[in-house]
Amino acid sequence: MHAATMTVVRDVVLIGGGHSHVVVLRMMGMRPLPGVRLTVICTDTDTPYSGMLPGYIAGHYGFDDVHIDLRRLAEFAGARYYHDEVIGIDRAARKVLCRTRPPVAYDALSINIGSAPQLSRVKGAAEHAVPVKPIRRFNERWLALLARVRGHAGPTTIAVVGAGAGGVELTLAMQYRLRRELAALGRDPDELCFHLFSADANILPTHNAAVRRAFERVLAERGVAIHRDAEVIEVAAGRLQARGGESVDADEIVWVTQAGGAPWLRDTGLALDDDGFIRVRDTLQTETDPLIFAAGDCASMTGWPLEKAGVFAVRMGKPLAENLRRTMLRRPLLSYRPQRRWLALISTGDRHAVASRGRLFARGDWVWRWKDWIDRRFMRRFGEFAAMAEVAQAQQPLAIPLDESEQTQAISAIAMRCGGCGAKVGATVLARALADVHPIERDDVLIGLHAPDDAAVLRVPPGRALVHTVDFFRALIDDPWIFGRIAANHALGDIFAMGGEAQSATAIATVPPGLESKVEDTVFQMMAGAVEVLNEAGCALVGGHTGEGRELALGFAINGLIDEGLADVLRKGGMRAGDALILTKPLGTGTLFAAHARLQARGRWIDAALESMQCSNRAAVPCLIAHGATACTDVTGFGLLGHLVEMTRPSAVDAEIDLAALPLLDGAAETAAAGILSSLQPANVRLRRALRNQPEAVAHPNYPLLFDPQTAGGLLASVPADKAEACVAALRALGYARTARIGRVLAQGEALEPIRLLL
Ligand SMILES: Cc1cc2nc3c(=O)[nH]c(=O)nc-3n(C[C@H](O)[C@H](O)[C@H](O)COP(=O)(O)OP(=O)(O)OC[C@H]3O[C@@H](n4cnc5c(N)ncnc54)[C@H](O)[C@@H]3O)c2cc1C
Repeated sequence: MHAATMTVVRDVVLIGGGHSHVVVLRMMGMRPLPGVRLTVICTDTDTPYSGMLPGYIAGHYGFDDVHIDLRRLAEFAGARYYHDEVIGIDRAARKVLCRTRPPVAYDALSINIGSAPQLSRVKGAAEHAVPVKPIRRFNERWLALLARVRGHAGPTTIAVVGAGAGGVELTLAMQYRLRRELAALGRDPDELCFHLFSADANILPTHNAAVRRAFERVLAERGVAIHRDAEVIEVAAGRLQARGGESVDADEIVWVTQAGGAPWLRDTGLALDDDGFIRVRDTLQTETDPLIFAAGDCASMTGWPLEKAGVFAVRMGKPLAENLRRTMLRRPLLSYRPQRRWLALISTGDRHAVASRGRLFARGDWVWRWKDWIDRRFMRRFGEFAAMAEVAQAQQPLAIPLDESEQTQAISAIAMRCGGCGAKVGATVLARALADVHPIERDDVLIGLHAPDDAAVLRVPPGRALVHTVDFFRALIDDPWIFGRIAANHALGDIFAMGGEAQSATAIATVPPGLESKVEDTVFQMMAGAVEVLNEAGCALVGGHTGEGRELALGFAINGLIDEGLADVLRKGGMRAGDALILTKPLGTGTLFAAHARLQARGRWIDAALESMQCSNRAAVPCLIAHGATACTDVTGFGLLGHLVEMTRPSAVDAEIDLAALPLLDGAAETAAAGILSSLQPANVRLRRALRNQPEAVAHPNYPLLFDPQTAGGLLASVPADKAEACVAALRALGYARTARIGRVLAQGEALEPIRLLL
């Protein structure tokens, strides 16, 4: 990699993982712009591809066929992926406001968040209708509707409000699927009755007459009642009312009309149209702010009224990527001219489709097969990275125009850097970064960050002893805030495993050099995440040291307090034969993050692993103690087996692990089976000599997970067998949902290998 590409000088932030942004990510992945860092913030790691949704509803496709894995795509593109909801933009400070994390700074911003339901415009609709928008929420609503219809005894009436392409396609897809579902349950498919409401005199008002006639015929053949000139003006429980007085009783009311812009856009100060969509120029820049772009459904192109369709959102992707690039390069932007006519391939639910473009009309099974081919080819572009990876490797020198002061900083960032104290992050940068990070204060911290000195001074209260630990590692994810949270949680784990109370922490961090503003933001994000976790644990950050390094890394030395007489101390060496072994969190972080780096892990597996790593062990310890725990440790780098052996040795016992009972993170079994393992795994595997029946166990799918190094892993504890069941239930109730009884403690035998595996 060219040295200059190591330095981030501009941040482009993408809000939403809609159809335009997936194209931007792919294009940026194929042709990165050195010095520019992309960050995508999205509520949904699996982002739906609208073209295949009707086929998914009809049952022709599975979930993964119709969703793009945004985290994986972002990883390919070298982009940061923040799984969060955007709730506003501070345009003066150039920051994106998120639901859970600190504000995210941008130099250029793009919004592609689709549309939101406007149910409040129709009385009762918000309470009694199922909206298809936002499209990302539709899957859960659809699955709930499916379950309700399956469980509903007798006839079911479904009303679909909105007879554009989405409404018509959805009606036919739902009918096709639900009839099959009822037939499979041994019920009469004719128990289903469908109504379609159109506010216009026609269905599919934006399509040609032949297309309309074809669908009128299909709907009539399938017994769907069409209500024309029937704008729905009121919805009540089980009933809807159309203008003109017509009313229909319905068990389910599906809303496929009246979408508008997301409500939070109103507070951004960006110019919006009457429906709340962002007004954009033909460059896709917002009318109000040239550094903010918008595309897809949420954009309203001045002078070009466009249908809200995924096809336009996709088409906008390429000019959007190009104009973001040009903005960074300070070059003139290109104009985007949407096509006046576009091809719509609208399916009839039964692997049959109609083609519509201007006055063109065609129909047949072949149209469906054509659509299927186009859609699958489209999806492959966002899921198959092998061929693209090589292109992404081709790096170029930094081409971003810089201001004078930025130039000095950028040259200094890639020049030979000093060591020793010269490698410290500058005092001003550090002070600014930490200004908004607020560690808690404690009475026993006599001198800490609130009145900083050469070192912190702490009091150990009478009757208490100090328990001390240190942990440090480099970032496993390109997300400084989450990394900070995980690093702090991981470091606290040792204190909690001893039954201690966390008192104070000093941080040690390395941050790659770069523009001051970027270094400052990275330090802020990382320490904000860490301090949140330390504060929640009652642990005061009292000092630290931040130096420059090739990689982002963070660790903590943590002081905890325990009873001086070691009364409440949970040690590794207290196991007793007959005890049950309990593990409070699932295994698999090592293999999953190794797979993530190779683009082999699903994004949602990584989401779940990150969540597990942020789950504190703090509440589990008192619960284990209350159930008579005899020994405890936290499972980290040496893996389950390594940490178990650390317990059996000082306890002078043997142990048995039930391989089938091991709780695993989603995807860990798949990635381990694919042979993707952490780089630390081989060192951990040396401990296989501790296994009594290792040769027979090797073939077991969970076997590799015994050696998988964990980051911020769970607690491994021994509790008396008669309390084990209650203990597992109590831990699960506390939120450690995957807690499992994974084996038992045995009396020390003659064999040299202390651990027996139950296969
Ligand atoms: C049943 C149905 C079938 C359809 N079929 C077709 C079709 O065959 N062809 C077609 O062209 N169009 C179709 N459409 C229309 C199509 O769904 C939309 O036009 C399209 O999804 C718009 O794409 P988009 O990129 O603008 O936004 P979306 O696809 O809605 O994507 C928005 C993204 O932003 C994210 N997001 C939203 N809010 C936030 C937030 N606050 N913070 C962070 N992230 C956020 C979401 O998670 C999502 O990833 C269909 C619509 C329906 C209802």
